[in-house]
Amino acid sequence: MFICEVCDSRVLRIVLKPFELASNYGKCAKCGLLQNLGQIQPSKIEGLNFDNYLLAQDEVFEKSRRLTVLFQLEKLLTQNSLELSVFDIGTGSGHFLLDAQQKGFAVSGSELSHTAASIVKKEFGFVIHVMNYEELGFTDCQASVTMFCVLAHSVNPESLLRSIHTSLTNGGVLYFHTPRYCLIDSLGITLARLSMGRLDHLFLRRIGGDHKRIYSRKSLMKLLEKSGFSEFEMKAEIGYGLKKEKYFTAIGLPKNLSILIALVLNIFSRLKLLPRNVFTVYATKRN
Ligand SMILES: [Zn+2]
Repeated sequence: MFICEVCDSRVLRIVLKPFELASNYGKCAKCGLLQNLGQIQPSKIEGLNFDNYLLAQDEVFEKSRRLTVLFQLEKLLTQNSLELSVFDIGTGSGHFLLDAQQKGFAVSGSELSHTAASIVKKEFGFVIHVMNYEELGFTDCQASVTMFCVLAHSVNPESLLRSIHTSLTNGGVLYFHTPRYCLIDSLGITLARLSMGRLDHLFLRRIGGDHKRIYSRKSLMKLLEKSGFSEFEMKAEIGYGLKKEKYFTAIGLPKNLSILIALVLNIFSRLKLLPRNVFTVYATKRN
């Protein structure tokens, strides 16, 4: 029997293809957390195809999201009489730190990929810690910490969030976003079940591979509370950070059709008619 990593309740397995690794997913009966139940080794993160990931990113969307986060952080830190400084966990391409520095923030960060960290050092001159945040041992010193889609990849989200809580100074702010369980996931699970596992592409795009979990509101609130945060604002938002046509070419549709579907979806996105697929969270530490 599998146990939910957030609330310790029973996890109902989602059977896709019997006897294959892909069948190892489950949804918590109590808090609604969707989990990839397979074990992941931290070293596998180094194997992410960094270059392809960068090419697939929707840079216009990402830039506007980064600026929104910096605007909010500046507001919250000023309210709490804290200096403008940010530690970004999972720095990736380094563009967030670059934008933050240009807005007057003191910046630092960590990353698990040596490749990514060395590119950031070469391009922007930032020295990135290549290790888990927990191992850095920060206590009561950070004004703000950010994570762009890191929690879904983390080997142990609770210990990560606890260490962030410990590292923040009183009034310090954690920002992160992470995938939210939404209509796309229900649709993906239904398609996979009805087709006896043959049409599992949509489901696996959401949680196969590197995403370990997708949160429901209840499960994410519970996790934040367990990790020491009592004051937070959690919003369900539309946030598709990758170019949409890449999703469809990746699941085997022809390129022209993929571009057409992506075009239609972009219009829906502007009209705010797409499923709200991410949670954005601002959590404040209060002693
Ligand atoms: Zn649960």
